Amino acid sequence: MTKLSVAIVGASGYAGGEFLRLALGHPMLNVTQVTSERNAGTPVTFVHPNLRGRSNLKFIKASQLQACDVVVLALPHGHAAKRIAEFEGFAPIIVDLSADFRIKDLDAYRKHYGEDHPAPNQLSAWVYGNPELHREELRGATRIAGAGCFATSVILALYPLLKLGVPLPKDIVATGLVGSSAGGKDPTEGSHHPERDGSLRVYKATGHRHLAEVEQELPGRFPIHLTAIASPRVRGILATASVFIPDGYSERDVWGAYREVYGDEPFIRIVKVRQGIHRYPDPKLLDGTNFCDIGFETDQESGRVVVMSAIDNLVKGTAGHALQSLNIAQGWDETLGLEFVGLHP
Ligand code: NAP
Repeated sequence: MTKLSVAIVGASGYAGGEFLRLALGHPMLNVTQVTSERNAGTPVTFVHPNLRGRSNLKFIKASQLQACDVVVLALPHGHAAKRIAEFEGFAPIIVDLSADFRIKDLDAYRKHYGEDHPAPNQLSAWVYGNPELHREELRGATRIAGAGCFATSVILALYPLLKLGVPLPKDIVATGLVGSSAGGKDPTEGSHHPERDGSLRVYKATGHRHLAEVEQELPGRFPIHLTAIASPRVRGILATASVFIPDGYSERDVWGAYREVYGDEPFIRIVKVRQGIHRYPDPKLLDGTNFCDIGFETDQESGRVVVMSAIDNLVKGTAGHALQSLNIAQGWDETLGLEFVGLHP
């Protein structure tokens, strides 16, 4: 079968670089163009040394792009929406890893992103790139809006309980420890090593933008609150959410909900082990993988269930999730290019 030719725009960044790493191992994709404005003319391995021996590509500027089958956009917020007509001229299929086409509600977009959406007429064409929630809509899709990383960890953690309509008596409060690569490759004061190393800094106690996605995607529009903490890890998110279950609802029922909804999911693993040190999800075990590990523990007395989810923000939180979505859109095995199982220790 003919491979699809792929251009990655913003391939010098962390998200674009991760899509490149995965696409190089994908049997149906052939990456032919990678862009970087600041590194045009240099080999990709200069920026992504992990790809030495795997790719001879050199960066070009976005203005030098040629026609191809798939354009993957890995640009900072706002670029994809403002320049979508330009990118649509190069390829029939577009995968955008930014937040630009994720939010369908224009008021929610304005509230969380502080401006009117630059291309509101485009929004209906895009499918939110979360296979666990949108597998059927993704089949045949030509516009895939890659999901946010923190949002994905929270949505996947809570989806079964809300999908099955468990009547929850209280608001849900979720907290995420987020690795530094989620902030992209450009240094900031907060990412400077002496500030970041060893610290656990709350960077969004309230008002995290991903709340827009979480509220959009979780069924039932249940009240939910997010807090994000910068973790000293480079990759990985560990989210925990406190959910109160109704009287008469037991841990068995919680198990049943997660099994029912995620039983056949290739990249969701329920991690709940009685003994040993690996009893709950841990992002360390997921570096480089497309898994989302989900665990929970119930305090029967108070009715509180602590749901935990772990992902690699650059894989299940970005590039892997989007590639899984593209696999589904193309009718391929959805695990293609995503088989890596991670490292231990
Ligand atoms: P990043 O590391 O800062 O990379 C940004 C990329 O965009 C670089 O390749 C950069 O190229 C390019 N770029 C910047 N300004 C440009 C311009 N004016 N014209 C053309 N190219 C330009 O950021 P990232 O973390 O990869 O994030 C990229 C997108 O993915 C963002 O929208 C982000 O929200 C989304 N995302 C990221 C994560 C994550 O964990 N990092 C997770 C989910 C979604 P140069 O080499 O020229 O600078």
